[in-house]
Amino acid sequence: MAEEHSPWFEPTRDYMLRLVGIRSVSPSAAENDVAREVLRILGEGGLESTYAALGLDPVEGDQYGRANAYAFLRGASPRTIVLLGHIDTVPTADYGALEEYAVDPLALRERRDALAAITPGLAEEIARYGDDLLFGRGTIDMQAGGAANIAVMRALAWRSQQEALPLSVVWLATPDEENESAGVLQAVRFLLRLREEHGLDYLGAINTDYTTARYPDDPHRYVFTGTIGKLLPSFLVIGRESHVGDPFDGVDADLLAAELIRDLSMNPELCDVIRGQKAPPPVTLHAADLKVGYDVQLPFAAYFYLNVLTLSSSPAELLELLRERVEATLARFLERLHGAEERWMRLTADGTPPHALREGKVMTLAELRTVTEAKLGVDKVKANLAALNESSPATLDKRERSLRLAQRLWTLSGLSGPAVVLYYSPPYYPHAQAAPAALHEAMASVAAAHPELQLQTVEFYPYISDMSYLRLDPGMYLAALKANMPLWSDEFPPVGGAYSLPLDEIARLGLPMINLGPYGWGAHQRGERLLQSYSFGVLPQLIVEVVERLSALNEPPTN
Ligand SMILES: [Zn+2]
Repeated sequence: MAEEHSPWFEPTRDYMLRLVGIRSVSPSAAENDVAREVLRILGEGGLESTYAALGLDPVEGDQYGRANAYAFLRGASPRTIVLLGHIDTVPTADYGALEEYAVDPLALRERRDALAAITPGLAEEIARYGDDLLFGRGTIDMQAGGAANIAVMRALAWRSQQEALPLSVVWLATPDEENESAGVLQAVRFLLRLREEHGLDYLGAINTDYTTARYPDDPHRYVFTGTIGKLLPSFLVIGRESHVGDPFDGVDADLLAAELIRDLSMNPELCDVIRGQKAPPPVTLHAADLKVGYDVQLPFAAYFYLNVLTLSSSPAELLELLRERVEATLARFLERLHGAEERWMRLTADGTPPHALREGKVMTLAELRTVTEAKLGVDKVKANLAALNESSPATLDKRERSLRLAQRLWTLSGLSGPAVVLYYSPPYYPHAQAAPAALHEAMASVAAAHPELQLQTVEFYPYISDMSYLRLDPGMYLAALKANMPLWSDEFPPVGGAYSLPLDEIARLGLPMINLGPYGWGAHQRGERLLQSYSFGVLPQLIVEVVERLSALNEPPTN
């Protein structure tokens, strides 16, 4: 593929510059400005009336009033491919003194030496790739991917004026991917509605989020056929209060939390491994005790939550694995505490016996709830939690809100520590494994037709992305998630920070997916940059070839 002379290059680059130039930090109303620009570009040159549908689909209940931009080209067949991409970006403060140029790639290129001076490794790369590099927030992540999809949609729209397209094509541009994926969750509802209205058969989705090198000097380009997922298990750690002068009368919740974190954080034994790919280890994203000020009491409650990336573990499986580890750590901790007390006693022989070996318990939120309901009754517990939820400030962080509910349930239970309560906080991103699909066959045959690109197929897209919400792997039983997530909205009216996912709709949509995106480096860093030759010259052509190959595959639809 002669990328430098590719007819795709100039228009795709132009579209990307127009999109990047609109600051669209998530979450904000400005994301709509990009959505409108997407529609403008799609319609330019008199193409507007070519689409069977073109417009904005508002995100239900969105506090910023955001919308997905969509375009639908009706082909001769109800078999339909979905093109997908997000239009928001992360903030730009990381550019420091260069921030005013962060969304102006051409101005930033004039200042690339200044950028290189504050970005390790960039000077070498500039020496290597020269003018093929383009910098700026939102370039690779991912207005270049959106621009490629727009270029493809416009080309197909022109073609459809001459002859009916063999496939139908939908393009959806979503806001909020860098935040809570409200856009793609709305897209799920939109796609189900469109399927119903037009009797469509979806063949799958081509997402065009960024791709990058997997190691230094990596010559490959990458395609992904599934995506990594994420769970946020949270730990309410209950100790026992005591004056610092009598520490063995109490149990230090901070010390217990520290032991748990030491065991769980960065532990490879908690990583999913499947078909030669492994998930990164869990990390603690936040840890704190629950004191509100200075005092001389042992901290008797603490909490932390753990970011766990998944390839195969369901919420139920992860919860059981964590419970086993927490039980073992708690038992070790209590034995050690007992040993410390015995040694302390022996420092002077005053004949006082140590406390008996302390007993602790580990419970899931669902178990704690059952115990509490048995004591107080189902309705009373429900009313109490709902009242607490409603009285909490609307802007309260969802992790904090979840904690308050878990802590309230603990108080209502009347139980005493030491104890650890395991629960889930939002968000939840299901992983998706590669399911056999015509889309994957089409992609494989396109990759085989371009050995010069060294395209490699990898199963799991390694970054949290919108793709998590396109399908649910069979066997993903989510009862454990709902029962152990204090904020799950079956519980509360959908107000005050309640959390839910349209899980049934996602399962019904069930789209096979690939991620075929622009190529570059440094997403979410001030060195964010892309390789123009591939991202503008090659990528749109690959997308078109996948669509063409899919049209040729005379197979029954996959769902
Ligand atoms: Zn992205």
